[in-house]
Order: sequence, then C-alpha cells, then structure tokens
Amino acid sequence: MTVCKFGGSSVADASQIKKVKAILDSDSKRNVVIVSAPGKRCRDDEKITDLLYKCNEMVQNGGSCKSMFSTIEKRFLSIADELNVDRKALISQLEEIRCLIDAGSGADYAASRGEYLSAFLISQYLDFEFVDASDCIVINSDGTVNPYSYDKIRMIVDNSKKKGFVFPGFYGSTEDGVVKTFSRGGSDITGSVVARAVGAALYENWTDVSGFLSADPRIVEDAKTIDTISYNEVRELSDYGASVFHEEAIAPVMKSGIPINIKNTNSPEDKGTLITPEGGERKLAGVSAKAGLSRIKIRKLMLFKKHGMRHALLTMLHIFGIRPSFSLYGIDSIVWFYDSRMASESVLAAMCERLKSEFELDEVSVDHGHAILGVVGSSVPSDGSYIRAAKALEDASIPVSFLNYGSSDVSYSFGIAECDRERAVKAVYDALFR
Ligand code: ASP
Repeated sequence: MTVCKFGGSSVADASQIKKVKAILDSDSKRNVVIVSAPGKRCRDDEKITDLLYKCNEMVQNGGSCKSMFSTIEKRFLSIADELNVDRKALISQLEEIRCLIDAGSGADYAASRGEYLSAFLISQYLDFEFVDASDCIVINSDGTVNPYSYDKIRMIVDNSKKKGFVFPGFYGSTEDGVVKTFSRGGSDITGSVVARAVGAALYENWTDVSGFLSADPRIVEDAKTIDTISYNEVRELSDYGASVFHEEAIAPVMKSGIPINIKNTNSPEDKGTLITPEGGERKLAGVSAKAGLSRIKIRKLMLFKKHGMRHALLTMLHIFGIRPSFSLYGIDSIVWFYDSRMASESVLAAMCERLKSEFELDEVSVDHGHAILGVVGSSVPSDGSYIRAAKALEDASIPVSFLNYGSSDVSYSFGIAECDRERAVKAVYDALFR
C-alpha cells in the first residue's frame, strides 16, 4: 500500500486535481490519499486556509464572514463543476460550515474546513471513501498524536468495502471530540500518521518541487537535488527553515521506518527525494538559514550559584509566551533565541522588568533581526567543514554571533544577522557544495 499526500498546489484547481487522478490511476497501490486545502494558483492568489482564518477573524471582531466566505464557496463550486462532481451535497456542506463559523466555532474549526471540503470533493471525484480526520485522529494538548488514532484508522480502512480512501489533512480532534488543527503545513503530519496506521510500504508526499534541494533555489539558483536523505537530516534542515516537509511529520513514521518520497505532481516522472531512516552515501545534505529571530540576553554575577535558576528563568519566559528555540550559557550569562512573533514590545518590556526585579539581574536586554544558518549532513561530526564554512563567512565579511557545534550528530549552526541571511547561505554553499 502506498499512502499519497497531495499538498495545496497539487489540489489548487480542477486541472491540478486531474493530475492527481492520473498519478493515482497509474499505480493501483496508491489507494490511500491525504489532501491539503486548495493552495495558490498563482503568485498573487490566496490559499483557502488563509481565507478561512480571515473569516474567523471577521467573526471574532463582531462581524459576519459572509462576504469573505463567498470567495471560498465560488472556488470550491467551480472546481466541482469542472470535475463534473454533483454540487448539491457540496452546497449544503458549505452552508452549514458558514453558519458554524458565523456562530463563533473558532479558528481551528474554520481553518480545518479547507481540508475537509477538499477531501469531500476529491473523494467524490475519485469514487473513494471520505474519512473525516476528526473521527479517527486524536491530537493531544501538546500537539502530538494520541496512539489510539492508529488503531482507529486501521479499523476504518480494514472494515470498508471501498478500495480507496481520502483523508483531509491538517486536523483531527481533541480527546473530547472538538476539531483541532496541527501547526501550519500540518497535512504532512496527517500523511505520516495514516501511513503508519495502515502499515504503508511507502509514503509519497506530492508537492510542486522535485524533492529537497541542498539550498533554497531563490538564493542558490542551481542548488542540487538531494536524492536520498535521512529522517534526522530532514528534521534538522526543516528546522533551519527548508520548507518542503513539516519537521514534525517524521516522528510518526520513525519507528516503522517507512520511506518517504517527496515527488512533484507537475513532473511525476522525476525521482524526487527519498527520505529513509539512514539516508544515502552522500556526506553533506544542505545549508539553510532561518530568519525572524529575537535574542534575550541576561547577565548576573554568580548566576548559577542558586539551584534551579535555569528552570525558574525559563518558567518566567513561558509565562510571557516565549518558548526559546536555542540557548547558550556562560558562567554569568544566558542568551536565548526565540521566534520574534511570540511577543510584542509591550510584553517584552513587562517581561524584562519582571525578570530584573524577581531575579535581581545585573542586565537584561532583547534585540531583534537575528537568523541561524545550519549546515546539515551525516559527515558533519568529523569532516571539519565548519572551519571552511566559518572561513567563508569571514571572507564575505559576515559577522557571526555564535557557533553551535556538537549539540547534534548531523548539523552545526552559526548565529548571523537576518540582513546577511542570503549572502551567508550563498557563501557557505559555494564553499562546501561546489
Ligand atoms: N492548509 C494548511 C496550511 O496552509 C495545512 C497544509 O496545507 O498542510 O497550513
């Protein structure tokens, strides 16, 4: 059995969905399908999920989503018409959904309906069974998948008379049965969960690029495609900002070792990238840099003399909504990096005030505009490439705020300024990958 997940661009309009059908028809093993909500058809287009979030915002601001929702309705109905799918059932679904969003059903419910409607429509077009993810995928409060979900999915598939299945991606439900979404791009996670549940031999992840590239092609035009890569390397590359595959989507398939093939719906013959437990022969996989980070610096003489100081400080950060993604410790100082969107200036001012008084700090400051550049590959612990990468950054006059080497078996990273991100990726790529 091959589980196939099709992303937003693969189901953006009727002509893309016809390509999906052709891909499924060409191999009878491809009978379990996960779909995203329709994505952008062109550069200036809007994703259905973004429109749904806006509908919810309109309702939260005291209005109705009617005008915005009509754009969504038109888009789904025109897809149905072009695919010759009966619009009647779709119209009543759309009507019910709009009423529930207007009644204040919340952001998760609203956002999930893009995938719901997409799967509902495509299941009719393919004559596959529609399986509502909120009936079988339970998402815990920390965003992980409740193991009960695997048995439930398997039962549904085993007990059905149909030969094919379409699951909506991106959402499931809480233990109490309330619709809950994964983080953005989460249909990749649904694909992994379903692949593990049905014991798939292969999980194909269909998108609009022919696999992972060793650098962002908007920065390095001729970046090479990676033919095989390990689970760990993918997680790290995604964490450093490579956006082809959701980093949380590796966990569900990790134990069973199901290979994942990143494929291109617009060029199905391309081999794409194969993600396997061990990866391939190749030593260095890629370079990527994630921007949009802020830095908190604190300093206090004998900071760690008191037991539990780190924990207490982190708890305080969490209270103000900040979950750092990276930290550095010195004898009298700590530096944390976090996603800048986590806190506004007023929240930061209140947090600094509180940290300073409660922990009697000598200094606390926050600044923005940081990025982290990561180099990923299985040879990283022993190949000394970090020296060449550091030299390349120096030659390009790019200041480095830290070097993190040794915390991972497959990567190292440099702290750089956000404004240097593109130049840094180019310089390191030229030094290590050419
Ligand atoms: N439609 C959702 C998003 O735009 C989930 C996904 O496409 O995977 O984030």
